[in-house]
Amino acid sequence: MVENMTLRRCIYCYKLKDESEFSLEHAIPRFLGGAFSPDYFKTNDVCKTCNRNLGLFVDAAFAKDYLVNHALADNSYTFFNPQTTKTLPLKCMGKLDIEVPHLEIDEICEWWLGPLGEQVFWVRPNDKRLYWYAGGNPTSAKQFQTKAYYIFSERSKKNIALSVNTFRQSFKKQKVKKFLCTKTDIHDLSKIGFSEPDTTDSDRIDFLNSIGSTKKKASVSMNIKFDHRFLAKLSLSISYCLFGKKVLEHEYAHELRKGLWYKKTDPVPNLFGTTNLNTNDKFLKEVLGIKGGVTICLMIHKEGLSMNLNISEKMHWTALITPSEILSSEDIQKIGDGKTYLLFRDIQQCISTKLPTFIAHKTSPMKIRELSKVEQIMDKNKNYFKDL
Ligand SMILES: [Zn+2]
Repeated sequence: MVENMTLRRCIYCYKLKDESEFSLEHAIPRFLGGAFSPDYFKTNDVCKTCNRNLGLFVDAAFAKDYLVNHALADNSYTFFNPQTTKTLPLKCMGKLDIEVPHLEIDEICEWWLGPLGEQVFWVRPNDKRLYWYAGGNPTSAKQFQTKAYYIFSERSKKNIALSVNTFRQSFKKQKVKKFLCTKTDIHDLSKIGFSEPDTTDSDRIDFLNSIGSTKKKASVSMNIKFDHRFLAKLSLSISYCLFGKKVLEHEYAHELRKGLWYKKTDPVPNLFGTTNLNTNDKFLKEVLGIKGGVTICLMIHKEGLSMNLNISEKMHWTALITPSEILSSEDIQKIGDGKTYLLFRDIQQCISTKLPTFIAHKTSPMKIRELSKVEQIMDKNKNYFKDL
């Protein structure tokens, strides 16, 4: 028996663990802007193992889905300012359907687009297990060396720094050998991070330059259940942060945990909600979301507390996160007519407001001043990428 050992449960794996095994968790993950959410959405009740594994297999499964990847990238473009923005995300166009020279049988060539029309061709191992991840398994990208070939576009000249920084930032912390396909008069390319091509690379560079400006076909792999585990995780953590321990002991939390740890052969958990695929309700999608940001709306109804997650009016999901029998009258009071959190990761801001106030902002002349200020800077430089 170890003395002074204080054991408590991790909200995700529900295992009893020692104090030293816990680390800080954002209930709303950082890639959605959760770092700027109110402090009560941060918790120390997640073990390090879950923090690491769920980041890779649940958060990344969601964030690296093709549609989510594009929607979040578009959010960054919404707030682009040529004076202050140093980098923008590349957008994944999918796996190139043309045969690239010297490609090994277990490799693919992924095609990405930069902000000014730059093209990146990334030769990397084909990840059969995480097939729908744009960019593949983020952990193995740090371990194994891959190669990325970069073609400037005519428009890159407009902002060479943005172009090069974007490329560098995209492969930061990864073992990627970078090659420039475009001929330039830059003397020492190694100074800006490019490697000297060998014969394989030279063949590929010639090939990629020859197809550079032609129409290319790429295919996108999708996993229609990419969002299920993530929604279960988000539901559990938000519900826990709002109402505490009692949530975890309830049978609905067990179902949420089943959803979070779901494997193909498991029985389907008994959860309530919708995925992005079957939410064709245009009105709801547009009213409960905001351009350039991620919106989380919480509302109480007969069955309990529901959450609506919305990315920039393009994608949305609803889930029952806390069944009504758990909710005390204080809990119900806390949520009131509903709550809204507007997360703008790219400008490091979160606006918290009552749900009716937000709906009024969206549908009437009654505006939220703080939000109007954000809206004023949206798309201010939209034409930057058009006018050349
Ligand atoms: Zn855990």
